[in-house]
Amino acid sequence: MKKNKTSSQVKSSAKQSKKNSKTQHSSKAKSSLAASAAGLTRTPSIRTFNVHGSEKTQAWEFSNHLVPPMTASTTFRLKSLQRGADGFQLFANIENHKDPIWIYDRLEEPSSKMLEEQLAQMERGEVAISFSSGMGAISASFLAFLKAGDTVISHKTLYGCTYSLITSWLPRFGINHQMVNVNQLKAKDLEDKSLKTIYFESVCNPSMEIIDIERICKLVKEENKSRGTENKIKIVVDNTFATPWGLRPLEFGADLVIQSLTKNIAGFGTEMGGAIITSRKYLSQLLLIRKDIGAIMHPHSAWNIMIYGIPSQVLRFEAQQKNATQIAKYLEKHPSVEKVYYPGLSSFPQHSLAKKILKTPEGNFSPGTMLSFTLKGNNAKTEKFINSIAQNSYSITLAVSLGLIKTLIEVPGLMTHAAVPKEKQAESGIPAKLIRMSIGIEDANDVISDLEQAFEKI
Ligand code: PLP
Repeated sequence: MKKNKTSSQVKSSAKQSKKNSKTQHSSKAKSSLAASAAGLTRTPSIRTFNVHGSEKTQAWEFSNHLVPPMTASTTFRLKSLQRGADGFQLFANIENHKDPIWIYDRLEEPSSKMLEEQLAQMERGEVAISFSSGMGAISASFLAFLKAGDTVISHKTLYGCTYSLITSWLPRFGINHQMVNVNQLKAKDLEDKSLKTIYFESVCNPSMEIIDIERICKLVKEENKSRGTENKIKIVVDNTFATPWGLRPLEFGADLVIQSLTKNIAGFGTEMGGAIITSRKYLSQLLLIRKDIGAIMHPHSAWNIMIYGIPSQVLRFEAQQKNATQIAKYLEKHPSVEKVYYPGLSSFPQHSLAKKILKTPEGNFSPGTMLSFTLKGNNAKTEKFINSIAQNSYSITLAVSLGLIKTLIEVPGLMTHAAVPKEKQAESGIPAKLIRMSIGIEDANDVISDLEQAFEKI
């Protein structure tokens, strides 16, 4: 990455070079932090960038308000019929589309555009495309690039709705799938020319298994040498658990990264959203599929995520991770607990892989805010424990979703992963009595006290 100035230096240099504003405002210049701050002397930390955003954007005039306005109009005034025709014909054509073509929100919209500019920087991508939900983004990552006869290889452990999408819906379009342990893929497994996508979660929901992205990217790179542009295998990584603060799969060579923005990036449990972060060469195809499937993010959600979620994400993530580490250590020592799955524990089977892969942009180990565990005894004991939490706990809530400031608990096999057939759950890395916790920003001692009370009741 090129050296950049601090944000205040960025401001003053931007003023000085008003003459050159056309160049500075080009979409190419905004597409990456490196490019937009080219020639600057200090690289602003992502912590700083998350607070100030792109600053130079075609989606809003920054000279007045400190905070961009919340946009709401679904359609735009057009000066001529030609302008209307251009809007539809050029909007997804990256060669001719240097400036945004505001025409209708389902095509492109200023609030989500600004959000996308920030997400691209966070994940170290060239572009981001926002969606109404994480599932909207995941669906688009398949539908934009696959056709009948193509094959997807996915990891065997996936979020329940992703599992359902791959096993129930893709086959209806003639798209085949194989669910395997992608950590065990070998070069010969990639030789099938119908294979077009390898899909996995960087930190698996809910098993917490870590996928060795570096190894898979090397394997695919080798296989892709013998394939033409249209037939290359794409690596699609759902990075929701890790968040871009904990891992940036594009740096390893992944092609598309998925974020469910509903989770840690939005952070407060008020917004739904999703994004694909990728390189510019995939932008046209993704804008077109988003236009036609219509899984567009509401501008108010985009605004809330941009104004509240992103600027506070690192602070929240770090506080949650500190709590998660303390709670994982407590659970590990508890006599009622059979096993704890948290990448930060030295007992975690992939602890050294986790330390290699899960790193903040500052280079620190980032084991995350999520953990899973099982209790000794049968499923009935787990149910009693969870019901006790649901009925008596103050700081832990029985609820799905994750990454939020409030600590949440659930049983994936019965709730978030219910779409995985019961007989497949064990081989998919979801033991029936697995309990998943998403750790919040409360005082960890209060969470532990609530767990302790529930343990006393079983
Ligand atoms: N990816 C992961 C890992 C998830 O856990 C979820 C939802 O829980 C999703 C994707 C889907 O996100 P959304 O609920 O925003 O559609």
